[in-house]
Amino acid sequence: MLSGNFVVAMFKLSGLGKKNAHNTALAANLKNEQQKFELIVNTIEDGVVLLDAEGVIQLFNPGAGKISGWDPDEACGLSSKSVLKLVDNKNQLYSDEANPFLTVFQTGEVTKHDDALLLTKSGSQLPVSIQISPLVTNDTVTAAVVVFRDVEQERAEEQRRADFISTASHEMRTPVAAIEGYLALALNNKVTTIDNRARNYLEKAHASTQHLGQLFQDLLTSAKAEDGRLSSRPVAVEMGSYLEQLTGDLKFAAEKKGLFMEFVVGSSRNKDASGGATGGERVVRPLYYTLVDPDRVREVVTNLFDNAVKYTDSGKVSIGLTGDDQVVQFYVRDTGPGIPAEDAPHLFQKFYRVDNSATRTIGGTGLGLFICQKIVELYHGRIWVESEVGKGSTFFINFPRLTTQQAAEHQAAEAKSTELQPINSLASS
Ligand code: ADP
Repeated sequence: MLSGNFVVAMFKLSGLGKKNAHNTALAANLKNEQQKFELIVNTIEDGVVLLDAEGVIQLFNPGAGKISGWDPDEACGLSSKSVLKLVDNKNQLYSDEANPFLTVFQTGEVTKHDDALLLTKSGSQLPVSIQISPLVTNDTVTAAVVVFRDVEQERAEEQRRADFISTASHEMRTPVAAIEGYLALALNNKVTTIDNRARNYLEKAHASTQHLGQLFQDLLTSAKAEDGRLSSRPVAVEMGSYLEQLTGDLKFAAEKKGLFMEFVVGSSRNKDASGGATGGERVVRPLYYTLVDPDRVREVVTNLFDNAVKYTDSGKVSIGLTGDDQVVQFYVRDTGPGIPAEDAPHLFQKFYRVDNSATRTIGGTGLGLFICQKIVELYHGRIWVESEVGKGSTFFINFPRLTTQQAAEHQAAEAKSTELQPINSLASS
């Protein structure tokens, strides 16, 4: 596919976007270059549109005509607003402020848009991928080149793939759960009598089945996260008390491995995971409210915590909370092996695992952090890692902070909507 940058370069080459059109060397070649340019623009399947400074269409190639249903001759001379209409996935026409064909003249920046639908002349909606490149002369945007592509088939393929993964993992979870259950029964010495060698084999089979079950579960969750089907019911959550309780629930798993576990708020340190103030003093801590689904955040913290415990041989795991007026920040820190700098940017990609002796011996799917990132993005948050090899890792998460007043308003609205829910729907939820 031709990129928008390439087409911009062609415009410049042809003289159309050139500040100084009297460049003699260029003029000598102009006819030839012009012919080449026209050949390319008329042949490519992508839509190529040139807008002038007023947003009026000056060039509309046959590709654009085929995708949009507009006759190129008819479209030329009309405003982009009447020909290139975009709608979002809620069927709403883009407002002028969000319309990239208009905003490019203010921002002067190259932009890409993959989630818009183009309203064709006949009124149907077509998923398109759009790149808009401004032509800037003396700091003013004098024109813009739009390159767009019909991605309906690609989207349908993606959807089919996601549906297959969802259905397959859903269907396979059931027999795997049954096998895991029977293996657990076989290992239960109140139910069966087995010799040590058989126990050893069954324990291995049980661990592998658990891993497989986790893989299907993660695949299902990541497929849902990718196509926006993760269920989420955000409510105002006070992260201090929420994390304190969660740390208490998780503490056992860390201690079982001989790791010390602590919960830290701001600069004050609680000596134990229950978060009780030490030395009999009460530590007054700020209330850090944020709008999230607590069950989803539990998945994120549990995943980061499980990783911290899994990859740390000795030392401590800390769950911490801090923030400022705008942000609630929490983190999971460990004293484990750390993550090499070259791996850190890839950790949140699907199936990425650092290739070292730890990951070769410790089971995992490489999907946990990908899912964490998708969940954090649901609440307009950010997740990242800071780490040094040999010194441990800290995974941070920032969420937008609610003021106590905003949190109270949300809680009042939540209480009201629960009251209004019919008894039947409460019973079934
Ligand atoms: P996995 O199921 O492999 O743990 P994740 O997506 O949760 O998948 O993590 C991806 C990779 O990031 C892991 O395989 C591991 O290499 C690395 N990693 C994650 N957390 C830590 C940690 N606390 N310490 C060291 N490495 C980690």
